[in-house]
Amino acid sequence: MQHRLSYPPVGRCIYCGGTSHLTLEHIVPYSLGGVVKLPQASCRECATLTAIFEGRLARTMFGNFRIRANFPTRRRAARPVRIKATDPATGEHVWLDPEESIVVLPMVHFLPPGMLRDPPVEPEDWTGATLEAKEIMPARPVPWEKATQNQLTFDQTFNVECLALTLAKIGHAYAAAEFGLDNFEPFLPAIIRGERGCIHTYVGGDVEQLQDPGLLHSIRLRLGHPSYGSRADFLLMVSIGLLSQFGSPTALVIVGRAKEDWAWREAERHSEASQAQRGSERSGRASGKDAAL
Ligand SMILES: [Zn+2]
Repeated sequence: MQHRLSYPPVGRCIYCGGTSHLTLEHIVPYSLGGVVKLPQASCRECATLTAIFEGRLARTMFGNFRIRANFPTRRRAARPVRIKATDPATGEHVWLDPEESIVVLPMVHFLPPGMLRDPPVEPEDWTGATLEAKEIMPARPVPWEKATQNQLTFDQTFNVECLALTLAKIGHAYAAAEFGLDNFEPFLPAIIRGERGCIHTYVGGDVEQLQDPGLLHSIRLRLGHPSYGSRADFLLMVSIGLLSQFGSPTALVIVGRAKEDWAWREAERHSEASQAQRGSERSGRASGKDAAL
């Protein structure tokens, strides 16, 4: 397990390759409690594009959960500090103390990315994904005199598109940080920048559940072969347990294809290693690597 809060500066935009006005990226959005930084990694234009879907995800889908979990916000003054509920009898809104309210942790169980299905497909929507609303019970008992209503309802939004885009961004940024932008042909920048659709081909669910004890989020870089085509292809994939501490399902993002010269260098390194009788323990620096987020 690695506990690293910042990677070395990248020096170019990981989405468009631009080199001017570079800003710091959080691998997992700051608004979802992400603490690991990637300095000089996003140009101003790409930072604006990613902030749109990340912001929408944080405000809508995870709005109440963030209030309850007290996740950081850059606009503390603008954020509600209470949870909104509605009395269905009167239609009136009631504002509850987050510690005394039920909040929902929204979860999306995706099918595997289209590229990894058998046979591979290029889905056009999220058909097959299922939504789950996990209740987080009040952190402390509610005083009787506060519970004036017999029944309260809560709104919960599922913004699957913004979630998928955020997962794509996390996967791409993590691969850039850990594997190096020069070592793979990325699939995702045009999708993250909104220039291409087909996100369903690359973003989906993982069959394995990641959950690192004590960590809010879990993440692993993986190398694997596609279930079709050339076995020589190394797909670079990232498993992402966003809010895995709370039991959220793990997503799988196919971020790109490892470059041939990387594969050759790895093959050489392996044969040198076995000649030196150092065993075959190291199966590539990227596979199965752990990190704290
Ligand atoms: Zn850019």
